[in-house]
Amino acid sequence: MNVHPAIAAFATEGGALSVGGIPVDRLAERVGSTPFFAYDRGLLTRRVELLRSVLPSGIDLSYAVKANPMPAVVQHLSGLVDSFDVASALEMRVALDTPMPATRVSFAGPGKTTAELIQAVAAGVTIEMESENEADRVIAIGERLGIRPRVAIRVNPDFQVKGSGMRMGGGPQQFGIDSERVPAVLKDLAVADLDVLGFHVFAGSQNLRAESICDAQRQTVELALRLAEDMTGPLRYLNLGGGFGIPYHEKDQPLDVAAVGANLAELLDGQIRPHLPEARVVIELGRFLVGECGVYVTRVVDRKQSRGKTYLVVDGGLHHQLAASGNFGQVIRRNYPLAIGNRIGAEPDETATVVGCLCTPLDLLGSDVPLPRADVGDLVILFQAGAYGLTASPTAFLSHPAPAEVLV
Ligand SMILES: *Cc1c(COP(=O)(O)O)cnc(C)c1O
Repeated sequence: MNVHPAIAAFATEGGALSVGGIPVDRLAERVGSTPFFAYDRGLLTRRVELLRSVLPSGIDLSYAVKANPMPAVVQHLSGLVDSFDVASALEMRVALDTPMPATRVSFAGPGKTTAELIQAVAAGVTIEMESENEADRVIAIGERLGIRPRVAIRVNPDFQVKGSGMRMGGGPQQFGIDSERVPAVLKDLAVADLDVLGFHVFAGSQNLRAESICDAQRQTVELALRLAEDMTGPLRYLNLGGGFGIPYHEKDQPLDVAAVGANLAELLDGQIRPHLPEARVVIELGRFLVGECGVYVTRVVDRKQSRGKTYLVVDGGLHHQLAASGNFGQVIRRNYPLAIGNRIGAEPDETATVVGCLCTPLDLLGSDVPLPRADVGDLVILFQAGAYGLTASPTAFLSHPAPAEVLV
């Protein structure tokens, strides 16, 4: 029986899955209720180690907190990564509650309110400015508070990344300042009381093609070299984005991170160090760091037949794990890996369709999945649930209770 790599990443004992060394049925007793999310501390650590082993030492690793803002997860990662990227004031607070210094926190995202910008300037985090209007507000806030804001310009590049699940750069965008406008913006900023550190380019998410990511990084460095000529001081910060994907579906091949690491080493030695010697070079990753380290644990409430089809109805659903239902950025719905908690690797007995407890046909968690037989009370585990799970789901929909989250 072929076990999906996302399932095989977790330890099993006698066919029972364990998370952080605890068998999942026992963990369910410890948590006290299903459904719940469980994140494996050891897998998080190993994930960072994997990246460190392929990235050149001059590349800083930033964690994009929006992928999984659970405070315990962010706290754990604070000891492993070099910086955090946040996208709201509350994410910033979670990041600043860890030992990570404010100078290693950056704040990106369109539509930052003035209240958020005040908090960010006062905190001393790096504001990745997404528009000229935002820049004007940051300058005014700095003057009022008597603080010199630390800023970078988020640049909407003049190229696109091929193969991204979600494109966030190139063409018209709500993200960043169009690259052709950046020289003029830099000129305006030069006379303001701002500490302009450098540039941030994030052009897309969920990319499994190393060649496309390498190509985007090469073009980003070229763009930064061009734009740096219009800076008054040296470029001290270059955030190359990330977009490293993880394989959700059967036909997805894992990203060749070693190839991306080799490309970054070449860029560092060939372009960045000679021309931008003071630049702190960052890649920022969310999904790749945490996505494979978490599971969503549900329990079978009902098992039923309908006109020849077997349904397993579980106590969770899309209100907690929207992505598995295919309604978070998927064009064609495909199954996320799932398994019966105490029968990992067992031969399938039947084909079952796993649905959640919401009264909508959208609440489909696994369509026609070959599975060992599961009955009422058994645990159904959904994998690849560590990123964009709970906080990317409509928890209020149908008014069921919120699930627990544990880091084990
Ligand atoms: C969402 C986001 C990320 C993280 O993207 P992943 O695909 O989860 O790695 C990184 N940077 C910015 C600016 C983002 O908005």
